[in-house]
Amino acid sequence: MQERQTEEKSHLYDMRLEDLRRWVTGLGEPAYRAVQLFDWMYKKRVSDFEEMTNLPKAFRAVLRERAELQTLEEVTRQVSKKDGTTKFLFRLRDGSTVEAVLMRHDYGNSVCVSTQVGCRMGCAFCASTIGGLVRNVTAGEMVEQLLACQRLLDGEGGRVSSVVLMGSGEPLENYDASLRFVDIITSPEGLRIGGRHITLSTSGLVPAIRKLAKERRPLTLAVSLHAPNDELRTSLMPINRAYPLARLMEACREYWQETGRRLTFEYALLGGINDQLVHARELAELLRGLPCHVNLIPVNEVPERRFARTPKHLVRAFREELEKQGIPCTVRREMGSDIAAACGQLRAGHAAIEV
Ligand code: SF4
Repeated sequence: MQERQTEEKSHLYDMRLEDLRRWVTGLGEPAYRAVQLFDWMYKKRVSDFEEMTNLPKAFRAVLRERAELQTLEEVTRQVSKKDGTTKFLFRLRDGSTVEAVLMRHDYGNSVCVSTQVGCRMGCAFCASTIGGLVRNVTAGEMVEQLLACQRLLDGEGGRVSSVVLMGSGEPLENYDASLRFVDIITSPEGLRIGGRHITLSTSGLVPAIRKLAKERRPLTLAVSLHAPNDELRTSLMPINRAYPLARLMEACREYWQETGRRLTFEYALLGGINDQLVHARELAELLRGLPCHVNLIPVNEVPERRFARTPKHLVRAFREELEKQGIPCTVRREMGSDIAAACGQLRAGHAAIEV
């Protein structure tokens, strides 16, 4: 086992700059090599050590032997004819696959990243959870998903301006890797994506929300709510049994108090289930006094899950009722609908693909 570990190459995209510094000095190289490497990886975005021409040849040979950059293989790429949304399917080293989605908005480009292969949270409306959790995605694999999107934009002179951790998986179940990913992509020496432009979604893991609150990072937390009362929420999201709404709301308040960041609540409208005016009023009551924003997500039909779409006039009525009650909300625009661009084939919840 020990032997196998020493044989394994180090995945450089999995390292923050300080990790990379430790790694290169461990190889007997000066620390500034880490900055040079980081620059090639994130600013010039080359994926072959041979192209890193300001590194000595001998060091490049060591890198080839001891390190790796690209571990994800692009399997498919689908582009929406409607809005240019691009959905990537990647094969990871162990053969499992994840999706990432690049969305083009008039205010910039955003990328939706997957944090787990599959998911064990069991949300009733989500296709990603059907096979359960396969494994966590590493920070480096998340970085690679993002870089694939950025490389596509490089050809057009564009850049990724915001990132949502809303693909398959519960990011807070893969806490350390998700936050390491955030550290790497926000690094001023690298991609320089602002923390304020990163949205981390959760199905409501209360202890992890409280832990994140204490870190006081300027991230947007998007909580998948989808129901205004415990009975309904438990029927849609099993996590609610462990962390019912009262505890979830308490953790959300703590997040607001610690970080000063307004929360986002995702609410998938499921026809005939949670989309009546009485639910809108209950939702407003639940959120009253908490600085927040609600994203309403009209869900596409999921025949195998027997979910129907909420008709447009009811979506409007729901939104108006929330606004009347003083809760700011938007209805999420569908993106890439012709390529089923919801990450991980999700149809709702974390599936939502617009920030
Ligand atoms: S909605 Fe998110 S947390 Fe729920 S099962 Fe799907 S991927 Fe997991």
